[in-house]
Amino acid sequence: MGTLGSAVLPLRASAGAQRTVELICRQAWGARNPTGDFERHRIRRITVHHSAVALRDNRLAPSRLRSHQAAHQDRGWPDIAYHLLIDRNGNVYEGRPRWAVGDTSTNYDPRGHLLVMCEGNFQEQRPSSAQVQALVDVLAWGVDRYDVGVRTIRGHLEYADTACPGRALQRRLGEVRRRVRERLEAGGIRLAGLCGEEGAARVDAIEAGKA
Ligand SMILES: [Zn+2]
Repeated sequence: MGTLGSAVLPLRASAGAQRTVELICRQAWGARNPTGDFERHRIRRITVHHSAVALRDNRLAPSRLRSHQAAHQDRGWPDIAYHLLIDRNGNVYEGRPRWAVGDTSTNYDPRGHLLVMCEGNFQEQRPSSAQVQALVDVLAWGVDRYDVGVRTIRGHLEYADTACPGRALQRRLGEVRRRVRERLEAGGIRLAGLCGEEGAARVDAIEAGKA
């Protein structure tokens, strides 16, 4: 899909303690092409979401993403609603292009929001430590890349009448913001695309319960 663009460039190449997050490319998880036009936006804040579908067996994560995308496109949206997707083992997947406004069925305007979705229903289950760690890393990357304040990291329910991202994740966000600050002070995060055969191998490993 070529949507990674400059995102794969190191952000703080001089920082010794910089960490890398691997981003599984769209084609690797079997995303369909967008079915309509996107609206461009400039990211000013980051919003945390859940999928609202409980996920117990992480081997199902890639197929869940495919079904979310199909359901969202069936609503008439051009693509999966969210920009970055995180499974229970902390694998990170590329969603909708980040330059494009997300979609929502709730009463807020998603323009300017980078939408980060954690797979699961956190009204019914707790996020795993691997998932929260990946969330911290993705948010640290987003804060740096888009030059938004850590304070702009909020749960969806702070903008709209919704339970999203679920009680068990929402109550972690204070801790998450603190850990994002620590990660940025420690050197930040680089996002590296995991595409082609590498991306396909990672998705195979996830579906085999090995990643
Ligand atoms: Zn949400």
